[in-house]
Amino acid sequence: MIWYPYEQMKTMKSPYKIVNAEGVYLYTQERKLIDSVSSWWSVIHGYKHPELDHAIEAQLKQFAHVMLGGLTHEPVQQLSDKLQSWLPGDLDYCFFSDSGSVAVEVALKMALQYYMNREEMQRTMVLALEHAYHGDTFKTMEVGDDEDYHFVLKAYGDNPNVLHIPTKISALEQAFEQYHAKLNCFIVEPLLQGAGGMLMYDVSFLKRARELCDQYGVFLIFDEVATGFGRTGNRFVADLVLPDILVIGKALTGGYIGHAATIANRKVFEGFYDENPDHALMHGPTFMGNALACSVALKSIELFEKQDYMSKIRKIEEITRRELEDFSDPRIKEVRIMGGCVCIEVHDPDTIKGYQQFAFERGVFSRPFLNYLYAMVPYVIEEDELVKVLATMKDWFAKK
Ligand SMILES: *Cc1c(COP(=O)(O)O)cnc(C)c1O
Repeated sequence: MIWYPYEQMKTMKSPYKIVNAEGVYLYTQERKLIDSVSSWWSVIHGYKHPELDHAIEAQLKQFAHVMLGGLTHEPVQQLSDKLQSWLPGDLDYCFFSDSGSVAVEVALKMALQYYMNREEMQRTMVLALEHAYHGDTFKTMEVGDDEDYHFVLKAYGDNPNVLHIPTKISALEQAFEQYHAKLNCFIVEPLLQGAGGMLMYDVSFLKRARELCDQYGVFLIFDEVATGFGRTGNRFVADLVLPDILVIGKALTGGYIGHAATIANRKVFEGFYDENPDHALMHGPTFMGNALACSVALKSIELFEKQDYMSKIRKIEEITRRELEDFSDPRIKEVRIMGGCVCIEVHDPDTIKGYQQFAFERGVFSRPFLNYLYAMVPYVIEEDELVKVLATMKDWFAKK
Protein backbone atom coordinates (compact mmCIF):
# COMPACT_ATOMS: atom_id res chain seq x y z
CA MET A 1 0.00 0.00 0.00
CA ILE A 2 0.95 3.65 -0.34
CA TRP A 3 2.39 5.24 2.78
CA TYR A 4 1.20 8.87 2.48
CA PRO A 5 3.24 11.93 3.58
CA TYR A 6 2.78 13.60 6.96
CA GLU A 7 -0.15 11.34 7.84
CA GLN A 8 -1.16 9.08 10.66
CA MET A 9 -2.17 6.28 8.33
CA LYS A 10 -4.65 4.83 10.81
CA THR A 11 -6.81 7.95 10.95
CA MET A 12 -6.15 9.74 7.66
CA LYS A 13 -9.15 10.48 5.49
CA SER A 14 -8.93 9.03 2.02
CA PRO A 15 -7.20 11.30 -0.49
CA TYR A 16 -9.05 12.74 -3.50
CA LYS A 17 -8.26 10.69 -6.57
CA ILE A 18 -7.19 12.85 -9.51
CA VAL A 19 -7.92 11.52 -12.97
CA ASN A 20 -6.96 14.56 -15.05
CA ALA A 21 -5.41 18.00 -14.61
CA GLU A 22 -5.34 21.00 -16.91
CA GLY A 23 -4.63 24.69 -16.36
CA VAL A 24 -5.42 25.57 -12.75
CA TYR A 25 -7.85 22.65 -12.46
CA LEU A 26 -7.61 19.21 -10.91
CA TYR A 27 -10.29 16.74 -11.95
CA THR A 28 -11.68 13.93 -9.86
CA GLN A 29 -14.18 11.54 -11.44
CA GLU A 30 -17.06 13.87 -10.43
CA ARG A 31 -15.57 17.27 -9.77
CA LYS A 32 -13.41 20.06 -11.10
CA LEU A 33 -11.26 21.80 -8.48
CA ILE A 34 -9.11 24.92 -8.63
CA ASP A 35 -5.74 23.87 -7.18
CA SER A 36 -5.04 26.65 -4.66
CA VAL A 37 -1.87 24.84 -3.51
CA SER A 38 -0.20 24.47 -6.94
CA SER A 39 0.88 20.94 -5.95
CA TRP A 40 3.07 22.09 -3.08
CA TRP A 41 3.72 25.49 -4.69
CA SER A 42 5.44 24.13 -7.79
CA VAL A 43 2.91 24.18 -10.66
CA ILE A 44 3.27 27.87 -11.52
CA HIS A 45 2.13 27.58 -15.17
CA GLY A 46 -0.78 25.24 -14.44
CA TYR A 47 -1.14 21.62 -15.50
CA LYS A 48 -0.76 20.15 -18.97
CA HIS A 49 0.80 23.30 -20.39
CA PRO A 50 1.20 22.67 -24.14
CA GLU A 51 4.69 24.18 -24.37
CA LEU A 52 5.99 22.38 -21.30
CA ASP A 53 4.49 19.12 -22.52
CA HIS A 54 6.14 19.66 -25.86
CA ALA A 55 9.57 20.39 -24.32
CA ILE A 56 9.47 17.04 -22.53
CA GLU A 57 8.15 15.14 -25.51
CA ALA A 58 10.87 16.54 -27.76
CA GLN A 59 13.62 15.58 -25.31
CA LEU A 60 12.06 12.15 -24.81
CA LYS A 61 12.64 11.44 -28.49
CA GLN A 62 16.40 11.99 -27.88
CA PHE A 63 16.80 10.33 -24.47
CA ALA A 64 15.14 10.60 -21.05
CA HIS A 65 18.18 10.45 -18.85
CA VAL A 66 21.90 9.92 -18.74
CA MET A 67 23.99 10.33 -15.61
CA LEU A 68 26.29 13.33 -15.14
CA GLY A 69 29.15 11.15 -13.90
CA GLY A 70 31.58 11.40 -16.78
CA LEU A 71 28.81 12.42 -19.22
CA THR A 72 27.13 15.64 -20.15
CA HIS A 73 24.40 16.78 -22.53
CA GLU A 74 22.81 19.77 -24.20
CA PRO A 75 19.78 20.36 -21.91
CA VAL A 76 21.87 20.43 -18.72
CA GLN A 77 24.46 22.73 -20.30
CA GLN A 78 21.78 25.06 -21.56
CA LEU A 79 20.02 25.17 -18.20
CA SER A 80 23.26 25.87 -16.36
CA ASP A 81 24.11 28.67 -18.84
CA LYS A 82 20.62 30.08 -18.51
CA LEU A 83 20.71 30.10 -14.71
CA GLN A 84 24.18 31.64 -14.74
CA SER A 85 23.02 34.57 -16.87
CA TRP A 86 19.56 34.87 -15.34
CA LEU A 87 20.47 34.80 -11.64
CA PRO A 88 22.00 37.88 -10.01
CA GLY A 89 25.64 38.59 -9.19
CA ASP A 90 28.24 35.85 -9.50
CA LEU A 91 25.87 33.00 -8.65
CA ASP A 92 27.37 31.08 -11.55
CA TYR A 93 28.19 27.53 -10.39
CA CYS A 94 25.25 25.23 -10.63
CA PHE A 95 25.00 21.85 -8.88
CA PHE A 96 21.83 19.90 -9.76
CA SER A 97 19.87 17.56 -7.50
CA ASP A 98 16.64 15.64 -7.63
CA SER A 99 14.92 17.43 -4.75
CA GLY A 100 14.97 20.56 -2.63
CA SER A 101 16.05 18.72 0.51
CA VAL A 102 19.07 17.27 -1.25
CA ALA A 103 19.94 20.66 -2.76
CA VAL A 104 19.89 22.18 0.75
CA GLU A 105 22.13 19.36 2.00
CA VAL A 106 24.54 20.21 -0.81
CA ALA A 107 24.54 23.90 0.16
CA LEU A 108 25.30 23.04 3.80
CA LYS A 109 28.03 20.65 2.70
CA MET A 110 29.58 23.33 0.48
CA ALA A 111 29.71 25.84 3.35
CA LEU A 112 31.19 23.32 5.80
CA GLN A 113 33.72 21.82 3.41
CA TYR A 114 34.85 25.22 2.14
CA TYR A 115 36.32 25.84 5.58
CA MET A 116 37.60 22.28 6.00
CA ASN A 117 39.46 22.67 2.69
CA ARG A 118 41.15 25.69 4.26
CA GLU A 119 41.77 23.75 7.46
CA GLU A 120 39.58 26.05 9.49
CA MET A 121 38.15 23.11 11.38
CA GLN A 122 36.42 25.17 14.07
CA ARG A 123 33.78 26.45 11.62
CA THR A 124 31.28 23.70 12.33
CA MET A 125 28.23 25.74 13.26
CA VAL A 126 25.18 26.70 11.22
CA LEU A 127 23.01 29.67 12.10
CA ALA A 128 19.34 29.25 11.14
CA LEU A 129 15.94 30.74 11.90
CA GLU A 130 13.26 29.72 14.33
CA HIS A 131 10.27 28.20 12.46
CA ALA A 132 12.57 27.38 9.54
CA TYR A 133 11.77 24.59 7.11
CA HIS A 134 14.53 23.32 4.80
CA GLY A 135 13.41 19.78 3.96
CA ASP A 136 12.91 16.35 5.45
CA THR A 137 16.36 14.72 5.41
CA PHE A 138 18.31 14.61 8.68
CA LYS A 139 20.59 17.64 8.29
CA THR A 140 17.77 19.72 6.84
CA MET A 141 15.58 18.69 9.80
CA GLU A 142 18.33 19.87 12.13
CA VAL A 143 18.67 23.30 10.53
CA GLY A 144 14.90 23.43 10.28
CA ASP A 145 12.84 24.21 13.34
CA ASP A 146 9.69 22.20 12.96
CA GLU A 147 8.02 20.95 16.14
CA ASP A 148 7.04 17.70 14.47
CA TYR A 149 10.65 16.89 13.65
CA HIS A 150 11.96 17.63 17.13
CA PHE A 151 10.27 14.42 18.15
CA VAL A 152 12.57 12.15 16.09
CA LEU A 153 15.60 14.38 16.54
CA LYS A 154 15.27 13.98 20.31
CA ALA A 155 16.97 10.61 19.83
CA TYR A 156 20.24 12.50 19.30
CA GLY A 157 19.85 15.11 22.03
CA ASP A 158 20.52 18.81 21.48
CA ASN A 159 22.67 19.63 18.48
CA PRO A 160 25.40 22.06 19.48
CA ASN A 161 26.17 22.80 15.83
CA VAL A 162 22.91 24.48 14.92
CA LEU A 163 21.67 27.71 16.46
CA HIS A 164 18.15 29.04 15.80
CA ILE A 165 17.31 32.72 16.14
CA PRO A 166 14.13 34.75 15.58
CA THR A 167 13.94 37.19 12.65
CA LYS A 168 15.02 40.11 14.86
CA ILE A 169 18.08 42.19 14.05
CA SER A 170 19.10 42.30 17.73
CA ALA A 171 19.11 38.48 17.92
CA LEU A 172 21.08 38.33 14.69
CA GLU A 173 23.74 40.73 15.93
CA GLN A 174 24.01 38.92 19.22
CA ALA A 175 24.44 35.51 17.52
CA PHE A 176 27.24 36.84 15.31
CA GLU A 177 28.88 38.60 18.23
CA GLN A 178 28.96 35.39 20.22
CA TYR A 179 29.53 32.66 17.60
CA HIS A 180 31.11 34.25 14.51
CA ALA A 181 34.36 32.28 14.80
CA LYS A 182 32.48 28.96 14.75
CA LEU A 183 29.88 29.71 12.08
CA ASN A 184 30.31 28.51 8.50
CA CYS A 185 26.92 29.71 7.24
CA PHE A 186 23.64 31.38 7.95
CA ILE A 187 20.75 29.70 6.12
CA VAL A 188 17.36 31.35 5.68
CA GLU A 189 14.15 31.13 3.70
CA PRO A 190 14.32 34.79 2.69
CA LEU A 191 11.30 37.06 3.43
CA LEU A 192 8.78 34.22 3.55
CA GLN A 193 9.02 31.15 5.78
CA GLY A 194 6.69 28.68 4.07
CA ALA A 195 6.10 25.40 5.88
CA GLY A 196 6.79 27.11 9.22
CA GLY A 197 3.49 28.96 8.79
CA MET A 198 3.81 31.47 5.93
CA LEU A 199 5.66 33.86 8.25
CA MET A 200 6.81 37.09 6.62
CA TYR A 201 9.61 39.41 7.65
CA ASP A 202 11.37 42.51 6.45
CA VAL A 203 14.22 42.79 3.96
CA SER A 204 16.17 44.96 6.46
CA PHE A 205 16.89 41.76 8.40
CA LEU A 206 18.49 40.20 5.31
CA LYS A 207 20.49 43.34 4.55
CA ARG A 208 21.92 43.31 8.07
CA ALA A 209 22.61 39.56 7.73
CA ARG A 210 24.56 40.25 4.50
CA GLU A 211 26.70 42.86 6.29
CA LEU A 212 27.46 40.59 9.23
CA CYS A 213 28.23 37.62 6.98
CA ASP A 214 30.70 39.82 5.04
CA GLN A 215 32.24 41.15 8.21
CA TYR A 216 32.86 37.70 9.70
CA GLY A 217 33.39 35.57 6.59
CA VAL A 218 30.22 33.54 7.07
CA PHE A 219 28.34 32.26 4.00
CA LEU A 220 24.81 33.48 3.49
CA ILE A 221 22.58 30.75 2.05
CA PHE A 222 19.15 31.55 0.64
CA ASP A 223 16.85 28.56 0.49
CA GLU A 224 14.53 29.84 -2.24
CA VAL A 225 12.99 26.44 -2.94
CA ALA A 226 9.62 27.97 -2.01
CA THR A 227 10.23 31.72 -2.51
CA GLY A 228 11.99 31.52 -5.89
CA PHE A 229 10.34 32.19 -9.24
CA GLY A 230 8.23 35.11 -8.09
CA ARG A 231 6.31 33.75 -5.11
CA THR A 232 7.19 36.72 -2.85
CA GLY A 233 6.49 39.28 -5.58
CA ASN A 234 10.23 39.41 -6.30
CA ARG A 235 11.65 37.22 -9.06
CA PHE A 236 14.08 35.90 -6.47
CA VAL A 237 14.71 37.51 -3.10
CA ALA A 238 18.34 37.13 -4.19
CA ASP A 239 17.63 40.07 -6.54
CA LEU A 240 17.31 42.27 -3.43
CA VAL A 241 20.10 40.86 -1.26
CA LEU A 242 22.76 38.68 -2.84
CA PRO A 243 23.51 35.39 -1.07
CA ASP A 244 26.70 33.32 -1.50
CA ILE A 245 24.71 30.16 -2.20
CA LEU A 246 21.20 30.00 -3.63
CA VAL A 247 18.99 26.92 -3.51
CA ILE A 248 16.06 26.59 -5.91
CA GLY A 249 13.61 23.74 -6.50
CA LYS A 250 9.83 23.29 -6.50
CA ALA A 251 8.84 25.67 -9.37
CA LEU A 252 12.14 25.10 -11.21
CA THR A 253 10.53 22.59 -13.57
CA GLY A 254 7.10 24.22 -13.46
CA GLY A 255 6.13 21.35 -11.18
CA TYR A 256 6.61 18.72 -13.88
CA ILE A 257 9.48 16.64 -12.46
CA GLY A 258 11.35 16.81 -9.18
CA HIS A 259 14.52 18.80 -9.67
CA ALA A 260 16.55 21.36 -7.76
CA ALA A 261 19.80 23.29 -7.94
CA THR A 262 22.39 24.65 -5.53
CA ILE A 263 24.06 27.65 -7.12
CA ALA A 264 27.31 28.89 -5.62
CA ASN A 265 29.17 32.13 -6.18
CA ARG A 266 32.78 32.35 -7.32
CA LYS A 267 34.22 32.53 -3.81
CA VAL A 268 32.55 29.26 -2.79
CA PHE A 269 33.54 27.52 -6.02
CA GLU A 270 37.15 28.62 -5.73
CA GLY A 271 37.34 27.10 -2.25
CA PHE A 272 37.12 23.70 -3.97
CA TYR A 273 39.05 24.44 -7.16
CA ASP A 274 42.69 23.35 -6.83
CA GLU A 275 45.08 20.44 -7.39
CA ASN A 276 44.02 18.49 -4.31
CA PRO A 277 41.51 15.68 -5.07
CA ASP A 278 40.40 15.70 -1.42
CA HIS A 279 39.09 19.22 -1.97
CA ALA A 280 36.47 18.05 -4.47
CA LEU A 281 32.78 18.26 -3.63
CA MET A 282 31.79 14.67 -2.95
CA HIS A 283 28.18 14.58 -3.98
CA GLY A 284 26.30 13.14 -6.94
CA PRO A 285 22.59 12.33 -6.91
CA THR A 286 21.79 9.57 -9.41
CA PHE A 287 19.27 11.69 -11.29
CA MET A 288 21.06 15.06 -11.14
CA GLY A 289 20.73 16.99 -14.38
CA ASN A 290 18.00 14.66 -15.69
CA ALA A 291 17.48 15.61 -19.33
CA LEU A 292 13.66 15.73 -19.18
CA ALA A 293 13.80 17.90 -16.05
CA CYS A 294 16.36 20.27 -17.59
CA SER A 295 14.37 20.59 -20.83
CA VAL A 296 11.16 21.44 -19.05
CA ALA A 297 12.96 23.82 -16.63
CA LEU A 298 14.40 25.74 -19.58
CA LYS A 299 10.98 26.07 -21.16
CA SER A 300 9.47 27.06 -17.81
CA ILE A 301 11.99 29.90 -17.40
CA GLU A 302 11.38 30.99 -20.98
CA LEU A 303 7.61 31.25 -20.31
CA PHE A 304 8.28 33.07 -17.04
CA GLU A 305 10.32 35.70 -18.86
CA LYS A 306 8.46 36.05 -22.15
CA GLN A 307 5.00 36.18 -20.67
CA ASP A 308 5.94 38.70 -17.99
CA TYR A 309 5.03 36.55 -15.02
CA MET A 310 6.11 39.26 -12.59
CA SER A 311 3.16 41.36 -13.67
CA LYS A 312 0.82 38.35 -13.30
CA ILE A 313 2.09 37.96 -9.73
CA ARG A 314 1.60 41.67 -8.99
CA LYS A 315 -1.97 41.30 -10.20
CA ILE A 316 -2.52 38.28 -7.94
CA GLU A 317 -1.24 40.29 -4.97
CA GLU A 318 -3.43 43.26 -5.88
CA ILE A 319 -6.59 41.14 -6.13
CA THR A 320 -5.74 39.31 -2.92
CA ARG A 321 -5.28 42.59 -1.04
CA ARG A 322 -8.52 43.95 -2.45
CA GLU A 323 -10.46 40.85 -1.37
CA LEU A 324 -8.85 40.03 1.96
CA GLU A 325 -6.87 42.86 3.47
CA ASP A 326 -9.76 44.24 5.53
CA PHE A 327 -11.31 40.87 6.23
CA SER A 328 -11.48 40.11 9.91
CA ASP A 329 -13.07 37.72 12.33
CA PRO A 330 -12.45 37.27 16.05
CA ARG A 331 -11.06 33.78 15.34
CA ILE A 332 -8.42 35.17 12.99
CA LYS A 333 -5.07 36.14 14.44
CA GLU A 334 -3.60 37.67 11.28
CA VAL A 335 -4.02 37.84 7.51
CA ARG A 336 -0.64 37.86 5.73
CA ILE A 337 -0.17 38.64 2.05
CA MET A 338 3.04 38.71 0.03
CA GLY A 339 3.21 38.33 -3.75
CA GLY A 340 1.50 35.09 -4.73
CA CYS A 341 1.05 33.89 -1.16
CA VAL A 342 -1.79 34.56 1.25
CA CYS A 343 -2.22 33.10 4.71
CA ILE A 344 -5.00 33.41 7.27
CA GLU A 345 -3.62 32.45 10.66
CA VAL A 346 -6.25 31.49 13.23
CA HIS A 347 -5.90 31.38 17.01
CA ASP A 348 -7.18 27.83 17.34
CA PRO A 349 -6.45 25.03 14.83
CA ASP A 350 -9.99 23.65 15.41
CA THR A 351 -11.33 26.74 13.64
CA ILE A 352 -10.18 25.40 10.26
CA LYS A 353 -10.93 21.70 10.81
CA GLY A 354 -13.24 20.59 8.02
CA TYR A 355 -12.19 23.40 5.69
CA GLN A 356 -10.68 21.08 3.10
CA GLN A 357 -13.99 19.27 2.52
CA PHE A 358 -15.92 22.58 2.61
CA ALA A 359 -13.65 23.95 -0.13
CA PHE A 360 -13.82 20.69 -2.09
CA GLU A 361 -17.60 20.92 -2.25
CA ARG A 362 -17.23 24.44 -3.64
CA GLY A 363 -14.71 23.45 -6.30
CA VAL A 364 -11.45 24.44 -4.62
CA PHE A 365 -8.62 22.18 -3.51
CA SER A 366 -6.95 23.46 -0.35
CA ARG A 367 -4.65 21.93 2.22
CA PRO A 368 -4.63 23.91 5.46
CA PHE A 369 -2.21 22.87 8.20
CA LEU A 370 -2.06 23.62 11.94
CA ASN A 371 -3.33 27.22 12.34
CA TYR A 372 -2.81 28.18 8.72
CA LEU A 373 -5.32 28.51 5.93
CA TYR A 374 -3.40 29.58 2.87
CA ALA A 375 -3.31 29.80 -0.91
CA MET A 376 -0.37 29.72 -3.30
CA VAL A 377 -2.12 29.64 -6.65
CA PRO A 378 -0.70 28.91 -10.10
CA TYR A 379 0.31 32.24 -11.65
CA VAL A 380 -1.89 31.62 -14.71
CA ILE A 381 -5.06 31.83 -12.61
CA GLU A 382 -7.81 34.13 -13.95
CA GLU A 383 -9.27 36.88 -11.77
CA ASP A 384 -12.67 35.17 -11.30
CA GLU A 385 -10.93 31.93 -10.29
CA LEU A 386 -8.74 33.69 -7.73
CA VAL A 387 -11.74 35.57 -6.36
CA LYS A 388 -13.48 32.21 -5.95
CA VAL A 389 -10.53 30.78 -3.98
CA LEU A 390 -10.52 33.81 -1.67
CA ALA A 391 -14.33 33.96 -1.35
CA THR A 392 -14.33 30.31 -0.30
CA MET A 393 -11.98 31.21 2.54
CA LYS A 394 -14.20 34.10 3.62
CA ASP A 395 -17.38 31.99 3.32
CA TRP A 396 -15.96 29.48 5.76
CA PHE A 397 -15.84 32.11 8.48
CA ALA A 398 -19.25 33.49 7.52
CA LYS A 399 -20.95 30.10 7.72
CA LYS A 400 -19.79 29.07 11.20
C1 LIG B 1 9.79 22.19 -0.06
C2 LIG B 1 10.98 22.83 0.52
C3 LIG B 1 12.21 22.14 0.62
C4 LIG B 1 12.35 20.67 0.30
O1 LIG B 1 12.16 20.40 -1.04
P1 LIG B 1 11.83 18.88 -1.48
O2 LIG B 1 11.87 18.93 -2.97
O3 LIG B 1 10.46 18.58 -0.93
O4 LIG B 1 12.87 18.01 -0.88
C5 LIG B 1 13.31 22.83 1.10
N1 LIG B 1 13.22 24.12 1.45
C6 LIG B 1 12.07 24.83 1.37
C7 LIG B 1 12.06 26.26 1.74
C8 LIG B 1 10.91 24.20 0.91
O5 LIG B 1 9.76 24.88 0.87
